[in-house]
Amino acid sequence: MKSSIANLQRAIYLVWQSSPRWTVVGFGLLLIQGILPLGQLYLMKRLIDTLTLGVSGATPETLQAALLWIGLIGLVSLLGDGCSALSKLTQTVQTEAVSDRVHSLLHTKSIQVDLQYYENTDYYNTLHRAQEQATYRPQMVLASLLQVGQSGLSLLGILALLSSLNCTVPLLLSIATIPGILMRVRYTGKAYGRVSSWTESERQSDYFHTLLTTEPHAKEIRLFDLGSLFSQWFQTLRTKIRREKIYLATQQSRIDLITNGSATLAVCVAGGITAHQTIQGAITLGGFVMYYQAFGRGQGFLRELLTNLIGLYENSLFLQDFYQFLDLKPTIVEPEDPKPLSPSWETGIRLENVSFNYAHSQRSVLKNINLTIEPGEVVAIVGANGAGKTTLIKLLCRLYQPTTGTITLDGVDLGNYSITDLHRQISVLFQDYIHYQLTVKENIWLGDIEVEPDSERIWAAAHKAGAHPTIDRLPHGLDTRLGNWFEQGEELSIGQWQKIALARTFLRDARLVILDEPTSALDPQAEAEVFARFRQLVRGRTAIIISHRLSTIKMVDRILVLSDGQLAESGSHEELMQQQGLYARLFTTQAQHYQL
Ligand code: ADP
Repeated sequence: MKSSIANLQRAIYLVWQSSPRWTVVGFGLLLIQGILPLGQLYLMKRLIDTLTLGVSGATPETLQAALLWIGLIGLVSLLGDGCSALSKLTQTVQTEAVSDRVHSLLHTKSIQVDLQYYENTDYYNTLHRAQEQATYRPQMVLASLLQVGQSGLSLLGILALLSSLNCTVPLLLSIATIPGILMRVRYTGKAYGRVSSWTESERQSDYFHTLLTTEPHAKEIRLFDLGSLFSQWFQTLRTKIRREKIYLATQQSRIDLITNGSATLAVCVAGGITAHQTIQGAITLGGFVMYYQAFGRGQGFLRELLTNLIGLYENSLFLQDFYQFLDLKPTIVEPEDPKPLSPSWETGIRLENVSFNYAHSQRSVLKNINLTIEPGEVVAIVGANGAGKTTLIKLLCRLYQPTTGTITLDGVDLGNYSITDLHRQISVLFQDYIHYQLTVKENIWLGDIEVEPDSERIWAAAHKAGAHPTIDRLPHGLDTRLGNWFEQGEELSIGQWQKIALARTFLRDARLVILDEPTSALDPQAEAEVFARFRQLVRGRTAIIISHRLSTIKMVDRILVLSDGQLAESGSHEELMQQQGLYARLFTTQAQHYQL
């Protein structure tokens, strides 16, 4: 309950922050709309009483008075119409503003959270629900809250009016609503549990939908004839979700029927009581119409009031996921008192007894690694698939924290440097680099957004990566949009994309350059060109290169051989060949292969 109230408070504050002015307008409209029904009932009573008098003996004044009441009723109705039109507009504006703000919060958090969250199913389920629900739920909280205020206000007036007739009538009004309310409260908790339980299935079905409808998968799906299989899997999941949804909708209808039925019954009983008093002459005909309508409306307001109160509870449950996501605390955070990072490294990087296992896994992916990388040294990491090479790189970039052991730079633990400062000194090309559906220039510029977007350095980086012939052939050169997601985009081959990504890496004037299989998609000539200039490209910087191409590895200062998460060997090509260990075996196998 406490957390529900806290969630509601946060949601209201969020709506307020998103559009304060419209929130005030909404509040003003609420007050007016809350009072209008009472005014309408009163005017209707006056009109009927005037007409009743007119029937017994019409005078010109009676007609005038009747017309006046009719005019006033019309005016009040017009005012009501104006208010509801403005309310709709207010709600649309607020919904948009809230949705934009929620997205901005989700984006900020998505960047902040540790990389390890992205490897966790719970994270995706929570994020999925947060994304689905959070764009409209805060606005619903406010709408429900305003509605609670409006219905409450109208109800108070009506109850006061009904009390003047008879005390049992307001009591009847309240009692008739109770069964429906209790059922709704039970239903809401159940519904939340059910919706949460199908999140995983919904995500899986979204996944098959993406496989079936997006370009990167189109080739394989056609060639392996997987379309109908995936479509069938999608249908199976959707059928399961649909059944759940239909079950909930049925429950909802059952509750609505009981709630509305008991209300109608109560209105009939109240009608009987009022009719009895009219016949006895205790109230006028106008009074009968007023009370009878007041009872019906009162029922409506009470139902609205309670429905919205339950709505608040329901929204608070769903907002739980959103706030749970926003409250995720990253473990890799900026230090309180960051140490300055020297622009020229002095003693370099040192790993001491570093071990690492991914969250939610007991397996050690890196085991007790000890090594030093000197400033300006060019190092290669080799090893079989899954040996832990990329993981080691991710630790060096401080995307993860070692499970045990320390990584220092110039003798200071990486955790004591500002993350931004540290990242500014590192430039990485991962194997799964991004194909930005942007212009060539932007694709390169994103490597260092501190550089002017039109800087000559962009073209220079393209040269370094050997991407210039590709760019020259594009219709608008550097200004050509890449990829085929958007209009006038030019799709590149994988090798050409890799050169652009390499240019992005070279743009950054970083102390440490890390290349993870940087030439895997390049043709032999392009690869040879990149490596011919590689030493020159990284001169004065520390460089780490992961590669399976042993021919390119020969030119580095030192080779580190990883085997099953352990540092098995370390030394120059000649030293490792002499040792006749793992590296020598790898090299000889590959050399034989190429001689064939
Ligand atoms: P390499 O780069 O040498 O091929 P990786 O560092 O990518 O190897 O992976 C090392 C091991 O860690 C592999 O066994 C892999 O299954 C595991 N691994 C890699 N990434 C993750 C992850 N995000 N979550 C859990 N395990 C992972």
